[in-house]
Amino acid sequence: MNLKGRTAAAWLLAASAAAAALAAAAFIAAFPPPSTFALLYPPANPHVRDGRFAAPVCNGVQCRLCPYDCFLPEGARGRCKVRINYGGKIKTLVYAQPAAVHVDPIEKKPVYHMNPGSLIYSLAAPGCNLTCRACQNWEISQIYPEQAPKKLPVPAALSVSVGHDGRAYAGLVSEEVSGLQPEDVVRRALATRSRAIAYTYSEPTVFYEYMYDTALLARRRGLKNVMVSAGYINPEPLRELLPLMDVVKIDLKGFSEKFYRGYTGARLEPVKRTLLELKKKGALFEVVNLVVPGLNDARPDLEALCGWVRENLGAETPLFFSRFAPNYLLTGVPQTPPETLALARRIALEKGLKFVYTGNLPGSEGESTYCPKCGRALVRRYGYAVLEDRLTPTGGRCPWDGTRVPGIWEGGI
Ligand code: SF4
Repeated sequence: MNLKGRTAAAWLLAASAAAAALAAAAFIAAFPPPSTFALLYPPANPHVRDGRFAAPVCNGVQCRLCPYDCFLPEGARGRCKVRINYGGKIKTLVYAQPAAVHVDPIEKKPVYHMNPGSLIYSLAAPGCNLTCRACQNWEISQIYPEQAPKKLPVPAALSVSVGHDGRAYAGLVSEEVSGLQPEDVVRRALATRSRAIAYTYSEPTVFYEYMYDTALLARRRGLKNVMVSAGYINPEPLRELLPLMDVVKIDLKGFSEKFYRGYTGARLEPVKRTLLELKKKGALFEVVNLVVPGLNDARPDLEALCGWVRENLGAETPLFFSRFAPNYLLTGVPQTPPETLALARRIALEKGLKFVYTGNLPGSEGESTYCPKCGRALVRRYGYAVLEDRLTPTGGRCPWDGTRVPGIWEGGI
């Protein structure tokens, strides 16, 4: 074939390829393939609901619930794995889909300035917007909702039985459920004599709609609400949620951007913004820092964290230093030595903080609440047990000198 013939053949080939591509595009436009979402979540799926805090942007949707502000083209999921753009709208995939439900002592959250010794109905859905390398609950926080168990045992009521010694013992009755609507959560919380509901274990920010509806109903039925969070949430959703929350527990993972990036995948600055917003709004909140050996336990980091909390959040902010245990991707890192926790606590007290605790260290001095004026123990604890509570009978005042301790101190079960 001469040059002219070869050129004509090349043109013919290109034209037929273009025609085939056009035909394929027209076919796909006429008969679009089902998206991953449509395959996994038919419209009847009860856990799929409209999500909030999103805006349409060119060829997609931007989720504005957390500081990632994920841009989601049709069918794409956010970093949290539980929010998706479906049909140009943001959807939550985990409404009323619990991944873990337990009745805990409130000390386990840990929340120390609210009704010591009370029970708290604790609820989690799958997903998280952080990827902490030592996550204690990675089996539920780092999964896709499709991986969550289809049925889950949940506490449903309290039972009382009489033991061989003639004494009455209380226990929990569980039942298996495949979903838990907000009204079911509230009913079970009341039936188990829980005083509050905690949104916890995974990251409640990413099951915002489920948490919000449950908290609203709980408040109407006389229950309190506690959000246990990493604080990686945008200001608008936080502001809407705060009136429903009685206490917010913020996990401040460390105090450098480098640590945050490497350990959590997120940034420190938005967490500080959340804490400042809580302070500004007058919310009751507590701060916990998991001290990981070799990663965030350097003295300058601890000093910077304590100094920032003291200056920006106030001397009365309860601050916890929690003991790290090897877990998830950090199985090679040892437990935090008790001396490191004691040092962190000492630094915080020297900075002027009044309520400083050490967590996951039963028997330590830092488990109890002390009067910042006279130094006497006001709530003595061991692990999750409350040995003595001098604050509840006085409504939160030191019985010796009347110093007020911030918190919620109500009597009764
Ligand atoms: S909540 Fe999820 S989808 Fe929304 S911005 Fe955060 S990570 Fe992205």
